[in-house]
Amino acid sequence: MAVDSVTSSPLGPPACEKDAKALQFIEDMTRNPDAVQERVLGEILSQNAETEYLKKFGLNGATDRHSFKSKIPVVKYEDLQPEIQRIANGDRSPSCLLIPSLSSSPAGERKLMPTIEEEMERRQQLYNLLMPVMNLYVPGLDKGKGLYFLFVKASTKTPGGLLARPVLTAYYNSKQFKNNPYDPYNVCTSPLEAVLCTDSFQSMYTQMLCGLIMRHEVLRVGAVFASGLLRAIRFLQINWKELAYDISTGILNPKVTEPSIRERMSNILKADQQLADFITKECSGENWDSIITRIWPNTKYLEVIVTGAMAQYIPTLDYYSGGLPKSCTMYASSECYFGLNLKPMCKPSEVSYTIMPNMAYFEFMPHNPSAPPPSHDSPPRLVELVDVEVGKEYELVVSTYSGLSRYRVGDILEVTGFHNLAPQFRFVRRKNVLLSIESDKTDEAELQKAIENASVLLREFNTSVVEYTSYADTKTIPGHYVIYWELLVKEAANSPTDDVLNQCCLAMEESLNVVYRQSRVADNSIGPLEIRVVKNGTFEELMDYAISRGASINQYKVPRCVNFTPIMELLDSRVVSVHFSPAAPHWTPERRR
Ligand code: AMP
Repeated sequence: MAVDSVTSSPLGPPACEKDAKALQFIEDMTRNPDAVQERVLGEILSQNAETEYLKKFGLNGATDRHSFKSKIPVVKYEDLQPEIQRIANGDRSPSCLLIPSLSSSPAGERKLMPTIEEEMERRQQLYNLLMPVMNLYVPGLDKGKGLYFLFVKASTKTPGGLLARPVLTAYYNSKQFKNNPYDPYNVCTSPLEAVLCTDSFQSMYTQMLCGLIMRHEVLRVGAVFASGLLRAIRFLQINWKELAYDISTGILNPKVTEPSIRERMSNILKADQQLADFITKECSGENWDSIITRIWPNTKYLEVIVTGAMAQYIPTLDYYSGGLPKSCTMYASSECYFGLNLKPMCKPSEVSYTIMPNMAYFEFMPHNPSAPPPSHDSPPRLVELVDVEVGKEYELVVSTYSGLSRYRVGDILEVTGFHNLAPQFRFVRRKNVLLSIESDKTDEAELQKAIENASVLLREFNTSVVEYTSYADTKTIPGHYVIYWELLVKEAANSPTDDVLNQCCLAMEESLNVVYRQSRVADNSIGPLEIRVVKNGTFEELMDYAISRGASINQYKVPRCVNFTPIMELLDSRVVSVHFSPAAPHWTPERRR
């Protein structure tokens, strides 16, 4: 029930006293974000005044914006890498803990990011705002549970003996997460013992088993990214027989060996033949349409990030969930947690994140793809959080309490509006060029758009693209784009023909930018685009491969471009058919820009 007007919030009536406080905090932070930013920068600079990095640029203990902006350079990860490596190798900066993250960079190599103990509090504070906002839109979440698939990875040690682990692993292992006080609105089905188990099979198996046992209590289903939830569905497809067997016998699968999980499950798992029969009935058929709502009939929404590169999972999630709402609640990274979505039940295409000004000091580099890149002589003018303009795109630059100063995150954001005086941003894309054969530069958003446009041709065959990646094949002359597709064919008898898939190649080319089409048509410097359809489950194998090499399941994102030989070999060994664009795309000199 909503609390009375004494504690009501402009965002809406809070569900309880605790929520009222959280919503008030959002109001406080967004009413005068510039003052919060000023304070945050002052705190960061005084806290880090003695660091060699700030001293090197002659900040001399100054904590004001002007000195900071005039002396400290804007940097990328590569610029900081030697300094970070020094810390990793044992240079004793006080209370520094290093967290590696599997970055979203195409090569997927691991990056180490410095962090400090107190950062966990700040992250926890942001997490604590999510449910109060959700409660404004979805009533009754205190009447059931969340089925969330969360995973950790084993920690490693840097040469200097510091702990190194993915950001979410650090968070799930933190006292803040483990000892979070009981909140009836945020009860989850997964036992902590399962979440904290570093063996991904045992962890997933137990989390799924608990989700099945508590199926009627589940009100929301989620994972961090959409890809994680689809992995869980795939796991169910492969393992439902064993799960149903455990439920029918009341005995936990011996493959789950972790003693703490076995002990915990002894209180949860009871023989239930009726439930085992139900799972067998639902999972043994070919039809997995709406499986989520069939197994968890009280699910009100899915909580998964489907913005940015995750947008391509929307059709598959809709298929498995019968079109349940998908809520994207927060925007975060290993470097820093940024903000939250104040309208979490909006459509994925309308998601905007409000950056919370207490998380870090934020600056924005105007992003104009057609402008020449900034030179050393004329460094870009960065804009303050409160000065960004609606409709414009910016690259996010952060200065964190953990010591990153004016660091380019690599994300492009578009301002969509304001909550009070705090701007709200649509995630546009990660700034990177995915594919390039010569002067053409195709980024993630363009490739995603091209895939979407080509997928339209598959609709009448009740087929969708479940996963994709790409590769600039320059071994052929001229070079050409290769796109790997994993398809979900819902009616085997009506699968798309060779000709349709060739037309998909052309449809993709038609969607690509003018430089690409000019190179294809006028210059002949790019060859016809190729689609290689791979066997079902191939991208699952790709993820397993990345995980075996140290990627975190929670943070894993399918690389949208690949060039690492073992991955190429894996993909190529799973190809079932190959298709080429049958004609040149449209291009005329008049359209030249
Ligand atoms: P990582 O540090 O590996 O967790 O990756 C962080 C990156 O994931 C961010 O810089 C974004 O590019 C992407 N990301 C995180 N949250 C979102 C979101 N809500 N929507 C779109 N992309 C996101």
